[in-house]
Amino acid sequence: MTHKLSGKTVVITGAAQGIGRSAAILFASARARVLAIDLDAAALATLEAEHGCEPVVLDLTDRESVAAWAESVEAVDVLFLCAGYVAYGTIEDCSDADWAFSFDLNVTAMFRMIRAIIPGMVVRKRGSIITMSSVASSVRGVPDRFAYAATKAAIIGMTKALAADYVGHGIRCNAICPGTVETSSLEDRIRATGDYEATRAAFIARQPIGRLGRPDEIAELALYLASDTSAFTTGQCHIIDGGWSN
Ligand code: NAD
Repeated sequence: MTHKLSGKTVVITGAAQGIGRSAAILFASARARVLAIDLDAAALATLEAEHGCEPVVLDLTDRESVAAWAESVEAVDVLFLCAGYVAYGTIEDCSDADWAFSFDLNVTAMFRMIRAIIPGMVVRKRGSIITMSSVASSVRGVPDRFAYAATKAAIIGMTKALAADYVGHGIRCNAICPGTVETSSLEDRIRATGDYEATRAAFIARQPIGRLGRPDEIAELALYLASDTSAFTTGQCHIIDGGWSN
């Protein structure tokens, strides 16, 4: 059996749960050294105990801590920026705080992490950066995702600009745009509406394939983009959405 990420060091943000955790487990099984970043120390500890991922407890919105950590890291081959926050509502529901936090975590923290890690990739003339966007972005308009969609569209712009700037340096940059994926945070968001069954049914109904996506399905796409199998792919939005945007 070949191991797609043998000898590679991967950094994953938002690695404690959901898609990021699935990716951390899959990447570790593909023989990567996985540096798993999250706020949730307890969940990272189980990722370490069960899958050998190296835990990095870090608040991605804390500029100084991120800069200090990035200084200490050498030779990152793959950066998978998965952490994100979903703000609900229209523009009229969107407070300044919601707007600012959405951009802080989803966009600015991603920008700072890439800016810190990419010089090492340039020196080694290789790297794969994978950003986490969403179908709710410039891919399609989704009701009640005003601030979220603005951040996820910004991520697509950032991804394409990075891909254009670094294509001559052996560095690829691709975005993943999932439809609705069954994660614990989605479950929490469905419960928070107060009408679990109807909300869940509505989430399923918008995806013609007739179900929600699974984190491991998104992780497989991330593995493809992380590995040399995808060496001819850069600057693209990889949509994985059960036919929602078709
Ligand atoms: P999730 O919400 O379950 O987990 C996010 C993780 O990020 C958590 O472990 C959390 O602790 C961590 N995190 C949050 N703020 C942090 C911070 N400041 N510093 C460090 N870590 C922090 O994630 P998910 O539902 O799997 O979604 C992952 C990504 O995929 C997000 O960017 C999300 O927008 C995107 N996405 C999700 C779906 C979906 O339906 N689940 C669909 C499209 C896109």
